Amino acid sequence: MQGSKTLSRGKILKVSGPLVVAEGMGDAEMFDVVRVSGQNLIGEIIEIHGDLASIQVYEETAGLGPGEPVVSTGAPLSVELAPGMMGEIFDGIQRPLEAIMAKVGNNITRGVQVDALDRTRQWEFVPVAQVGDRLVGGDILGTVQETVVVVHKVLVPPGVSGVLREIRAGSHTIVEPIAVVETEDGGRRELPMLQKWPVRIGRPHAGKISPERSMVTGQRSIDTFFPVARGGTAAVPGPFGSGKTVIQHQLAKWAEADIVVYIGCGERGNEMTDVLLEFPELTDPRTGESLMNRTVLIANTSDMPVAAREASIYTGITIAEYFRDMGYSVAIMADSTSRWAEALREMSGRLEEMPGEEGYPAYLGSRLAQFYERAGLVTCLGQERREGVLTAIGAVSPPGGDLSDPVAQATLRIVKVFWGLDSALAYRRHFPAINWLISYSLYADRVGEYMDRHVAPDWSALRALAMRLLQDEAELEEIVKLVGFDSLSAGDRLKLEAARSIREDFLHQNSYDPVDTYTSLPKQYRMLSLILRYYQEGTRALERGASFRALYDLPVRDGIARFKYIPEDEVDHEADRLDRALRDQVGAILPQGVM
Ligand code: ADP
Ligand code: MG
Repeated sequence: MQGSKTLSRGKILKVSGPLVVAEGMGDAEMFDVVRVSGQNLIGEIIEIHGDLASIQVYEETAGLGPGEPVVSTGAPLSVELAPGMMGEIFDGIQRPLEAIMAKVGNNITRGVQVDALDRTRQWEFVPVAQVGDRLVGGDILGTVQETVVVVHKVLVPPGVSGVLREIRAGSHTIVEPIAVVETEDGGRRELPMLQKWPVRIGRPHAGKISPERSMVTGQRSIDTFFPVARGGTAAVPGPFGSGKTVIQHQLAKWAEADIVVYIGCGERGNEMTDVLLEFPELTDPRTGESLMNRTVLIANTSDMPVAAREASIYTGITIAEYFRDMGYSVAIMADSTSRWAEALREMSGRLEEMPGEEGYPAYLGSRLAQFYERAGLVTCLGQERREGVLTAIGAVSPPGGDLSDPVAQATLRIVKVFWGLDSALAYRRHFPAINWLISYSLYADRVGEYMDRHVAPDWSALRALAMRLLQDEAELEEIVKLVGFDSLSAGDRLKLEAARSIREDFLHQNSYDPVDTYTSLPKQYRMLSLILRYYQEGTRALERGASFRALYDLPVRDGIARFKYIPEDEVDHEADRLDRALRDQVGAILPQGVM
């Protein structure tokens, strides 16, 4: 492609914030990357009319003026894919922040050119394919131990096929050929580990599969009530301070994923700093190694140019797809997609496009959909059957938490899980502040069937009962407001107590407590069973003449409330003990003679 076409050389006509209009760009194509001015700023063509190109520039444009040169590179915005990504922190256009700082110091100097991936580092390549093998795109050429926990699978690039003629074990940089394939037309194709992929195009797979399992997160309100499927999509909308970032961090730490791609998009710098400082310190519960060994961070803070927010989203999802193609389970978090949407709005305004709702472009919904559609449980390319998972979770930060906001509305039409954060809950310090009355998961039924078969046969039944109690609580609270608590029957009072226990003992989960921060599925199940057994046995006891007061005062309730702090390896023992205590104590408060 490159080289075979004439590269446009034009001149700046006008500059409007991150938008530059250049003339003399007739040979350029939509989405070509261009270099702007003598400072070589990186931009992308987002509109072409005749020989005028509108360019969104991913770097600060202050000081640019008409007449300065604009040169097309003839290639679309692409990411580099090879060993060396894990543990890295990239900016929105995949520049490694540490390497840049080493080169130019703390303030990213404009136009700085650094390779995305280190071309000098040697990696030990272990062949899997053998000379003579007939290979197609997606087949595994060999592996590289990229970090202690990640085996990087070097794949035949999509679209390449032929017979393997050479394969070179041993130490190589990412640009040296490690394999030679004789293509169908008799050509010789040398394959280095390094591949490039245009970020706006989803990487191909052999088909989507409908997921039946959830991505376990260890967060009770998510796993039990509003699960996200492996390969599913979820959104976390909420006002400022309601816990969107903490949830995304929790998922990055605990979600059942081999690889995490975390995009900090346009959020305050200090939140990103938290990630940068905190993640390397954290141990991955599943491997005992640093979390960074399986994490790629894309840092695009609010002090970076808005146009780079869009690039950061595409860069992140393309890297995530690449690891999915290896057969891994990948989770991508974007915090926050609203900041990206604001960037779209700003560019759209400068392009003088017809504005849609609240000034957002009419294509807002389709852009968001294109991002989430790249998630999924897929059959990977390649002859050997392999499944890859890409689960996408986006934070949405509508002004004031107002869900009628266009970005929130457009997102809710696309994603299948909605964790609605609530400022009232956050204010009461009920975290995670996921409002159980408005949140939903369209995967819940399917995942429930799986849980019934694999975790406990009454998993879905317990979930349904707990949800009903929470809904009944909301209705009873209305009644209490009107006629007072004293008018309630003992049965309704017990219901309120049970609902309170579901909220405070089960749904409330402290991310900062070493035990409470993660709850396994079996522990979630035993915890909810205890709470609901209290309700069920209590209901029976009331029918047999026990008093609500006595049920309220049962000593075992203290143990149930503290159950969340029981370490995983003591869970069964303690749950069995509480089960027995519950039965005995309920038995003891029944009036004499009733058994
Ligand atoms: P947002 O990103 O929505 O603006 P944050 O995620 O930064 O909000 O959360 C704001 C604050 O709320 C956090 O600094 C923390 O003190 C508290 N918080 C949020 N979620 C939790 C949680 N699960 N456990 C304990 N505290 C939490
Ligand atoms: Mg936040």
